[in-house]
Amino acid sequence: MQLTKDKVVNINYTLKDKESNIMDESNDGTFTYLHGAKNLIPALERALEGKTSGDKVNVVVPPENAYGLRDEKKIQHVPRKMFPVDQKLEIGMPFSSATPDGTAVNVVITGIEETEVIIDGNHPLADVELHFNIEIIDVRDATKEELEHGHVHGPGGHQH
Ligand code: ZN
Repeated sequence: MQLTKDKVVNINYTLKDKESNIMDESNDGTFTYLHGAKNLIPALERALEGKTSGDKVNVVVPPENAYGLRDEKKIQHVPRKMFPVDQKLEIGMPFSSATPDGTAVNVVITGIEETEVIIDGNHPLADVELHFNIEIIDVRDATKEELEHGHVHGPGGHQH
């Protein structure tokens, strides 16, 4: 079956950076997604469009079309007292913060000083060129319910 909008697609994939370091992978047949529902980054969906089960696809996605370029403005110095006194802070520690308009942002602590903490709101994959090796295992029609929810149900998908 051809891979087009509203198909449920089962793939194996390996994601590497430019230096061939493996950053993410799923090679046990458990990764499924709903095509055309923005479950994957658009550049990846475009590369897979029209393929069929058994096809192997290698895609290189530049950071501009993936998780963006690093933005120095997303690195901020905030007062230490913004954190609870008894909270142990560590470099690399992720937490959620909110912008003044209430949007949730995920940030990571990149520095701890006496009175200030440095936080970085850039996506961990910002500036990274993504190299995907994908094997399409299976393509099927999505159910009406899956299309309404915008994601896959059952094995490898949402269980609810
Ligand atoms: Zn659902």
